[in-house]
Amino acid sequence: MELDNHAEDLASDLGIDKEEVKADLQNLVEYSVPIDEAKQSLRRKYGDDTGGGGGTPSSKDIGNITTDDGNVTVTAVVLTAGERSIRYQGDDHVIVEGRLADETGAIDYTAWEDFGLSAGDAITAGNASVREWDGEPELNLGESTSLSFVEESLEVPFEIGGEASIADVETGDRAVTVDVQILESERRTIDGRDGETEILSGVLGDESGRLPFTCWDPDPAIEPGVSVRIENAYVREFRGVPEVNVSEFSVVSTLETDVEVGTDTTTMGVGEAVATGGVYDVELVGNVLAVRDGSGLIQRCPECNRVVQKGQCRTHGSVEGVDDLRVKAILDDGTGAVTVILDDELTEQVYEGTLEDALEQAREAMDQEVVADTIREKIVGREYSIRGHLSVDEYGANLDAERFEESDADPATRATDVLAEVRA
Ligand SMILES: [Zn+2]
Repeated sequence: MELDNHAEDLASDLGIDKEEVKADLQNLVEYSVPIDEAKQSLRRKYGDDTGGGGGTPSSKDIGNITTDDGNVTVTAVVLTAGERSIRYQGDDHVIVEGRLADETGAIDYTAWEDFGLSAGDAITAGNASVREWDGEPELNLGESTSLSFVEESLEVPFEIGGEASIADVETGDRAVTVDVQILESERRTIDGRDGETEILSGVLGDESGRLPFTCWDPDPAIEPGVSVRIENAYVREFRGVPEVNVSEFSVVSTLETDVEVGTDTTTMGVGEAVATGGVYDVELVGNVLAVRDGSGLIQRCPECNRVVQKGQCRTHGSVEGVDDLRVKAILDDGTGAVTVILDDELTEQVYEGTLEDALEQAREAMDQEVVADTIREKIVGREYSIRGHLSVDEYGANLDAERFEESDADPATRATDVLAEVRA
């Protein structure tokens, strides 16, 4: 509907067929070109160079920009500027993303043209278009934007540059600089947009926390145990948690002094943790209310490792399943609930037996469900402190446990703590 209106707008401005314009618009928007940029390029295509906006829009304070604004002119300091490659109509295109700020506020921007922006530059961006992203306004600097560098420096109440600690890194951050130690790193082959390609994936950390990372262009400086500075990384969500992405534009340099990695984790209420949308390393404390179906002794597909039911894998059909142990338990602390997943080792720990013991118990009972029943008897109704990775996505809120221990805190104290947290 909205696209329809834009097409009508353009068609009447340019005096051409609406359906033709609409098809072009649709095509551009499908390639995630912002609507204003798309309209602008169609104006050029159909020979209207006036920009259609009727002159340069007046200057606006960043703090006053709303998603209702069409085009604005801002004078601002570039806080961050990070390059990223996107594929658009079959070609790789380099865009620059980051944040701009003036005295009144800061705003994310995307530059579709190479303006040569770098952190600390003071600029005036004339006729920047405002788009909405996740309910917030963002600026697009494109071909219709007139950009000039300002001589005098601007004082802004924001830090220039993208230095961050791991605890502060959030999904959507661009041009981030972190000093970290590489904790795990593994070379993997993936099916990328240009066929098979090698990447590195692993875990990095600093004193404030740990996060997974992917390095799309394997850098020799990235090795387990090595401390590095990574400049111009971006953060996106992967499997429900923020992930640091090291791209071809990132700069990785080895640090002289080692970065210490904290062993502490954040303890959160379940409701609060779920509300964050995913936390890589978190401790939750609550009661195990139930052990879900698909726990205990299970069989996995030898091809894809997924759990098979009655010898059937959803992708590979009839397969010879491989025996394994796992637990899916519901943990609740009064503020929310998550499914806790225990791998084979943690399952052996709570079952107090090995896979062999489980197979024997199932053989004797002629029913493999007895293994889950045994686990149920041991853990349901008890309070546990669990450390792991929380992902929140279409599969629900799942905590991949790394540690699963009976809680030693007095339940009354715990209840008071949770209540205090809820009230705060
Ligand atoms: Zn399979």
